[in-house]
Amino acid sequence: MIYHQVLVVGGGLAGLRAAIETGDKLDVAVISRVNPVRSHSVAAQGGINGALANAENGRDDTPERHAFDTVKGSDYLADQDAVEIMTHDAPIRIIEMEHWGCPFSRTPEGKIAQRPFGGAGYPRTCYAADKTGHALLHTMYEQAIRRGVQVYEEWQVQRLVLENGKTRGVIAMNLITGQLEAFQAEAVLLATGGAGRVFARSTNSLIVTGAGQAMAYKAGIPLKDMEFIQFHPTALYGPSILISEAARGEGGYLKNNRGERFMEKYAPKAMELSPRDIVARSIQTEINEGRGFGDPGAGGYVHLDLTHLGKEKIMERLPAIRDIAMSFAGVDPIEKPIPIQPGMHYTMGGIDCNADGETVAEGFYAAGEVACVSVHGANRLGGNSLLETIVFGQRSGAAMLRYVMGLDKTRQGTIALEAALREEKERVEELLQRDGAENPGRLHEELRNTMFYKIGVFRQEEEMREGLEKVRELKDRVKKIHIAHKGRRYNLDLARNLELEGMVEMAEVIALGAITRKESRGSHYRLDHRERDDANWLKHTLAYRTDDGPRLDYKPVTITRYQPEARRY
Ligand SMILES: Cc1cc2nc3c(=O)[nH]c(=O)nc-3n(C[C@H](O)[C@H](O)[C@H](O)COP(=O)(O)OP(=O)(O)OC[C@H]3O[C@@H](n4cnc5c(N)ncnc54)[C@H](O)[C@@H]3O)c2cc1C
Repeated sequence: MIYHQVLVVGGGLAGLRAAIETGDKLDVAVISRVNPVRSHSVAAQGGINGALANAENGRDDTPERHAFDTVKGSDYLADQDAVEIMTHDAPIRIIEMEHWGCPFSRTPEGKIAQRPFGGAGYPRTCYAADKTGHALLHTMYEQAIRRGVQVYEEWQVQRLVLENGKTRGVIAMNLITGQLEAFQAEAVLLATGGAGRVFARSTNSLIVTGAGQAMAYKAGIPLKDMEFIQFHPTALYGPSILISEAARGEGGYLKNNRGERFMEKYAPKAMELSPRDIVARSIQTEINEGRGFGDPGAGGYVHLDLTHLGKEKIMERLPAIRDIAMSFAGVDPIEKPIPIQPGMHYTMGGIDCNADGETVAEGFYAAGEVACVSVHGANRLGGNSLLETIVFGQRSGAAMLRYVMGLDKTRQGTIALEAALREEKERVEELLQRDGAENPGRLHEELRNTMFYKIGVFRQEEEMREGLEKVRELKDRVKKIHIAHKGRRYNLDLARNLELEGMVEMAEVIALGAITRKESRGSHYRLDHRERDDANWLKHTLAYRTDDGPRLDYKPVTITRYQPEARRY
């Protein structure tokens, strides 16, 4: 049995930041199923928010203004005390990244450059061209290694082990050998990222599967607000690769097939820089009503036009966007508009935790996209997610340090871990031996299409019920999948498909939460309940696992100083 005082599952920005916080003082290890710098954080493009007030036209910006924009953007579902912590810590954590060597883009006077982003009153988004995640993650990895953090890379965690409400460790598979191992720890942090691949047309990496949410749920931890899924307005038509909001932040226009900047109908003031839920719905409406390009039945698209920005600006500020458009759509944005459509992008909900990453189980923590603190509520503002990872990564690292330092008994739960290891070995063996009739690849395709097309940008009762019924059918069928490749060494067929059951369960939680919430709020837009209903629904959804599917409960939203108002842009 492997032992570390602290185990961090996930080598993205949230996990590494937490490990750095404890690295000097405790024996901490990071487990990641890919080399940490290949985590989805590396793909982040547009930037990270903080009220640094560096931009010429942003000198009056403050953390309070950042908090207000975030709360309004969240459609008042975010917990305002947590938002205030995040916006207060933002400049501290961003400057820390600068001092650790992150190569941010600069203003002419040498300060960190900031660009405008959707739903923000000031240019507040710090960036490194359009490769911000790459710059942040490489810097963070360097700092973690420097502090002696041990990294188990290419290990996939399968199960969280709790005993009488206390954390004992995890069971993980070494992907290279196929060997399963028990890891014992005093504190475990899940920082495994979002659940993007439960949906079709996702901008997320293939490894973003909701594994952490599913693991926590199975261990009895409630998930919060899972029905809130962000659809990004601008995914490249076809492969759904993200075209960053920075393209609009730098002045890009959205145009329909009549050449009109249609956002003036939907959000006359903020236009293309409205929050994502509003822009995604506006684009989808243009497509649905025949003002898009291509076949609406096959998705359809509108244009993201950057041609007026000029070659120099595009080359300097958006070089990766240009590369993506040229390689995957055959379009050079210096000369022609980019074809885009809304795509699944971000999981606002997640493991229910507080601003120190603490959950209902002692010694079990969550941070980053897997967690729901909640700072994004019903709709996340662009640039706030990278910020969440470093702010709450740091805070949960500090909380684990305090917790472990205060323990008087350590290395508990050996028997529980050994039992869980045996069960996990049996589960893997059974799956490999099974002669099931279901093809896992096809089943996953049915799942993600059901979710995107039945519980998507626009939702309504009947369609969502059909979606939920389909998900429940898949819940039975997933028990009959077969694994074609039976080997042990680097068997990705096995590793990926071990997760399918959990993905189906996440789909069930999302669908049921969405059907039950009879209002429209942020990203959750119902054609049959078009208004926000604060009297009945200003509350967080909690989903608990039972053998008959999720049991839903609710808890209040924390309001400090921003009373809910109508949301106009
Ligand atoms: C294309 C794209 C662009 C984005 N751009 C921006 C942006 O400009 N600004 C912004 O604020 N946000 C952006 N976001 C969102 C933001 O990047 C993510 O929310 C954030 O990086 C998530 O970080 P994380 O540390 O929580 O998880 P991740 O970076 O996703 O890392 C998850 C880690 O968990 C590990 N893991 C997962 N499951 C297991 C398992 N079972 N066992 C072992 N390890 C496991 C993975 O190996 C990985 O190391 C973007 C997202 C995408 C997809």
